[in-house]
Amino acid sequence: MQLIDGKKVSGTIKERVAARVQELQSKTGKVPGLAVVLVGEDPASAIYVRNKNKICEQMGFQSFTHNLPADTGESQLLALVDELNRDPAVDGILVQLPLPQQINSQRILEAIDPAKDVDGFHPVNVGHLAGGHKTLVPCTPAGIIEMLDYYKIDIEGKHAVILGRSNIVGKPMAFLLLQRNATVTICHSRTRDLKTMARSADILVAAIGRPGFVTADMVQKGAVVIDVGINRVDGKLVGDVAFDAVAKLAAYITPVPGGVGPMTIAMLMQNTVTAHERIHNL
Ligand code: NDP
Repeated sequence: MQLIDGKKVSGTIKERVAARVQELQSKTGKVPGLAVVLVGEDPASAIYVRNKNKICEQMGFQSFTHNLPADTGESQLLALVDELNRDPAVDGILVQLPLPQQINSQRILEAIDPAKDVDGFHPVNVGHLAGGHKTLVPCTPAGIIEMLDYYKIDIEGKHAVILGRSNIVGKPMAFLLLQRNATVTICHSRTRDLKTMARSADILVAAIGRPGFVTADMVQKGAVVIDVGINRVDGKLVGDVAFDAVAKLAAYITPVPGGVGPMTIAMLMQNTVTAHERIHNL
């Protein structure tokens, strides 16, 4: 069994991004700018936002943070998004989810300029991804493809089974694996006999948010197991995969923490550089 080390792979991506930022700065005098918008005081979101700011600084980006109170109205947030869309120093806009209930998240995501949509959630970018075209792709599934490539894991012709069909992970993961010529099955809460489906996977991606859901009897020997889940159990972070038992069978497996998690933020940085390059025709 080989452990897929997300910290190591994300480190190489961050080095690549930082080098590109330096190169851009010396060529054009400009660096990519990422704006992060946080509404309310969800503690997990606040930690994410702090980490994003720290990494932006490490990468040499310009970083803009907008902390809005929990009772912010939808029109106020739309006005801020509009301002960021027009700000030439901002190449990427990330509105941290979840948003308070008085705000329609989809309306906000659709208001972001697709060229600055570094989360890849705007319908235009979702459409490009579904069409198999180059676009800004959601960070978590994009990071998983980077990990598979880093470890030279073949995707073409393999049966990839994805557990979970969210717009953030499951669905974009399916499109990316399909683009790489995998045969893809998506499972969800209404799937009949999920265990048999999972057991037929060469590449199994678990993204459902249920601690230890994937047990050894759901995994075929030699499978590649990617655990996207982040669950807090007794103060500890655990994934969707029962790691110890499944690791005995898997050819490759990602740990939690230290697997997919670090990739997500590295891909956000990569997407911001890509957005900057496209906006400035570089
Ligand atoms: P969602 O809650 O949006 O989606 C969960 C999906 O899992 C749904 O499609 C749901 O099915 C399916 N599901 C839930 N329970 C079952 C079950 N018992 N059997 C089969 N399918 C089930 O979650 P996300 O996609 O946003 O996140 C999934 C996990 O990944 C979470 O733990 C989250 O914290 C983590 N995550 C980690 C990231 C990282 O950077 N590592 C980034 C993003 C998420 P249905 O559609 O039928 O309801």
